[in-house]
Amino acid sequence: MARLFAILGDIHANLEALNVVLDDCRKEGVTDFLCTGDVVGYNAAPSECMKIVRELGCPVVKGNHDHYVASEQNLEDFHPNAAAVVQWTREQLTQEEIQWLFDLPFVETKMGIALVHSTMDRPETFGYVFDHFQAEANFICQKAPLCFHGHTHVPMIYEKQVSGVYRIDPQDFKLPIGRKYFINVGSVGQPRDGDPRAAYVLYDPMTRIVRFKRLEYDVQSAQERIRRAGLPERLAERLALGE
Ligand code: ZN
Repeated sequence: MARLFAILGDIHANLEALNVVLDDCRKEGVTDFLCTGDVVGYNAAPSECMKIVRELGCPVVKGNHDHYVASEQNLEDFHPNAAAVVQWTREQLTQEEIQWLFDLPFVETKMGIALVHSTMDRPETFGYVFDHFQAEANFICQKAPLCFHGHTHVPMIYEKQVSGVYRIDPQDFKLPIGRKYFINVGSVGQPRDGDPRAAYVLYDPMTRIVRFKRLEYDVQSAQERIRRAGLPERLAERLALGE
């Protein structure tokens, strides 16, 4: 049977966006899911989103928000808006749900495809990859030819050739054999590339084609949920702006 992977992450407790993405996956005929982490944080449906992700039964790696919610870490160094949501999220989840977040691995592999939230070099420190220098450090530790990640909420392809590392804008792309790829799948629940539509990626292992998908969802309902929860207004605002 032909397989089709959906790779999604940085869901960030946005139920409206997650449901639209999963509907689209059904239409596309997705057979396998991979999740690049940050199931919670920023939006106001953490428990609901966690339940759905757990029901997918797929590999999930630990994001920084998953990590902070599940730890007793002091939040002084956090941006106040992020700290407010981490604190609020801790109060919404059961002990069993917090334990599930705590137990998430930093790195996963399925059918030779690697998965990490931030980078393969020191994944537990949650470094950001915004350019090919930062991607270079990742490739030193990335053994698999293909690795999906998230964290910046900006979709991107990083390609490692013998001659160096190159950045390729997100587009339908057939992965040539013999090179390594580190692909950022963007964010389902809080895109930050100026496009407010939910982002995820499809990968067909037979044709080796990756596709970057963007989907409109009910931003207003997600915003109302944030306001009802009493979370910072800025978190509602940025959803409509994709930032
Ligand atoms: Zn995130």
